[in-house]
Amino acid sequence: MMNNILYPIIFILFISSINALSEPKKAYRGNQLAIFAMALTLIMSFYQINETYLLPAVLALVCGALVGITLAARIKMPNLPQLIALLNGFGGLSAGIIGITESSGPNHPLGLILLIIIIGFITFGGSTAAFLKLATSFTLKNSLVMRLTSAILLFLIAINIYCTNTGTLESILGLALLTSLWGFCFILPIGGADMAIVISLLNAFSGWSTVAVGFSLENALLIIVGTLIGSSGIILTHIMTKAMHRNIYQVIFQPFTAQKEQNYPSNRPFHQGTIRDAAFLLENAHKVIIIPGFGMAAANAQNEIVNMAQILKTKFNVKVKFAIHPVAGRMPGHMNVLLAEADADSNDIYELKDINQEFPTTDVAFVIGANDITNPIAKTKKDSPLYQMPILEVEQAKHILIVKRSLSPGYAQIDNPLFYKDNTLMLLGDAQKITKQIIAEIEND
Ligand code: NDP
Repeated sequence: MMNNILYPIIFILFISSINALSEPKKAYRGNQLAIFAMALTLIMSFYQINETYLLPAVLALVCGALVGITLAARIKMPNLPQLIALLNGFGGLSAGIIGITESSGPNHPLGLILLIIIIGFITFGGSTAAFLKLATSFTLKNSLVMRLTSAILLFLIAINIYCTNTGTLESILGLALLTSLWGFCFILPIGGADMAIVISLLNAFSGWSTVAVGFSLENALLIIVGTLIGSSGIILTHIMTKAMHRNIYQVIFQPFTAQKEQNYPSNRPFHQGTIRDAAFLLENAHKVIIIPGFGMAAANAQNEIVNMAQILKTKFNVKVKFAIHPVAGRMPGHMNVLLAEADADSNDIYELKDINQEFPTTDVAFVIGANDITNPIAKTKKDSPLYQMPILEVEQAKHILIVKRSLSPGYAQIDNPLFYKDNTLMLLGDAQKITKQIIAEIEND
């Protein structure tokens, strides 16, 4: 009875929350709705729980909540993408563990159990690799990994057939272990511009593993919520592959690998600008486009950059726009989240496809902590991990200001010819510090 009343309410709350999350202004409300829906779900689960399991369930809830609250309170903004990769993995792991425990139950078809274990542990292994790739520059040589992957895949299939016949706990545990390893090796060689797509795909996997668990536990809510996560992950994967001019086959089977450039660090001459140079160019511009990237997140410079844009608009009557690349930062929507948090006017924020044609009529392209997403090599160098990724056409602007701490490469580990152009001024230093100095300078003018 309670299910019949609460399920539709929770379902509507989750849908409304996703709907609200699609607009920066309503995103906060979206989060509140999701928290409320989750709280209702927990209340309902405790109401229905068998008394024998009440104490362990309360303990699990308290421990989980403590870990979650501590992580959320301590996490620094630049580390958010790897935390999200890890949380995706936890989703898969919990589904997989449910699959293992359910395998000893009497009523469940072994095929469904195997599906839960395979999707759950692939998500777990893959997300662990994504976490390591985002938190460190961890990678293995492509050929080795691909060979290892195919060997493990064969072994996995053999175990799978074995399980289908026997389904013993040992073989199920073996399957879980191998599937995790396979997921790990599957994601490891993927690099360059493909990582953003992979993160969306893993997100989808964690949703589908929840759906499989929902079927096995005959829990409609898990099926509904898992479908929401799985479908939105698939839709996001589709949007990202389209935006990056890739397809899912290429991402999985012809991955770009992150290889160190041989010619880095470059000894080519470049122009280093001063804060005064930057202030002069910005104040006297008609149109400025700001291109934020991972370094803005790392420096926590979003408030300063939005403040700088506001001063340029109000004091110097400059037209200021923000250009967002689909893979800027380290997670889908990373820059949008930060700019929304800093209260940037959403009317000033443009996607790549809507702003690229504006660079030829732009006086200053202000690149802050971005690198790969502006790298013109993506258009020319066939063996580059960025090849064919659409870039923000910054080089077409009259002047380019680039804020970063050194000439180091970005995530894809390749040098950026933009740094050495005659119309580029490098402002070397921490993004927040440099922006604060520019603000002080333009406030005094
Ligand atoms: P990049 O990683 O290409 O470049 C970021 C730049 O920021 C670095 O070159 C670094 O240079 C600079 N930087 C770092 N810290 C600071 C700081 N404190 N102050 C100033 N600058 C700083 O980032 P982009 O956003 O341009 O590109 C994103 C890349 O990440 C793409 O290759 C994308 O494929 C990949 N990726 C994206 C994901 C997504 O979902 N969005 C997921 C996973 C990967 P320096 O050290 O010299 O300061």
